[in-house]
Amino acid sequence: MRVLAIGAHPDDIELGCGATLLAHAARGHEVSLLVMTTGEQGPQLARSRTLEQEDAARLLGADLYWGNFEDGAVPQGRAAVAAIEAVLRETQAEVVYTHYGRDTHQDHRATAEATLAATRRLPTVLQYEAPSSLGFAPTVYVNVEGFVEAKIGLLHAHHSQVVRNGMVDLEAIEAQARYRGFNGRMKQAEAFMVERLEFSLGAPMSTPEEELALLRPSEQH
Ligand SMILES: [Zn+2]
Repeated sequence: MRVLAIGAHPDDIELGCGATLLAHAARGHEVSLLVMTTGEQGPQLARSRTLEQEDAARLLGADLYWGNFEDGAVPQGRAAVAAIEAVLRETQAEVVYTHYGRDTHQDHRATAEATLAATRRLPTVLQYEAPSSLGFAPTVYVNVEGFVEAKIGLLHAHHSQVVRNGMVDLEAIEAQARYRGFNGRMKQAEAFMVERLEFSLGAPMSTPEEELALLRPSEQH
């Protein structure tokens, strides 16, 4: 499986679906990240947020793409849609994770909106939550038991946000995984809202002709 996660700023993706991406990677799936801006308006250390995002991508074993938009000014229109489409072509992703569109941050809203247009031909598009999401009511739960500690590790790569400036509360991240797990009837989960979700019935037991034959009334009666 090939998956692409899209976020507006360095650390958005790891916060929203880091454990799910780790679980994908553990299954040998190809994981790619597209980060729309380098987060240059946020708190900075000497080591740039670009390098922190590269570290997180390396921990995930993911390919990293940049949208090269200005922090705080991600456009909603054609330019952002085209940037996402280009990465979709390059990665051939079948599953996309992105921001949820109701959010106090304009870059998160714009990224969600542009993803919606760029992924119009894909069967599965899921939206992850952020601390700035408004009215997030998930319906899809991914079991991430065993991956939450490694998710905290991904967030540690974003040293300037997590360790230095307290922008991210790691205890809250753990509690959220537990709470979403409780919601989803499992131990630890990441939760998503659905733009589109291909629901697989699993591998067929036989050919479509044979399956249909099983459904026909028997001639024995
Ligand atoms: Zn963000």
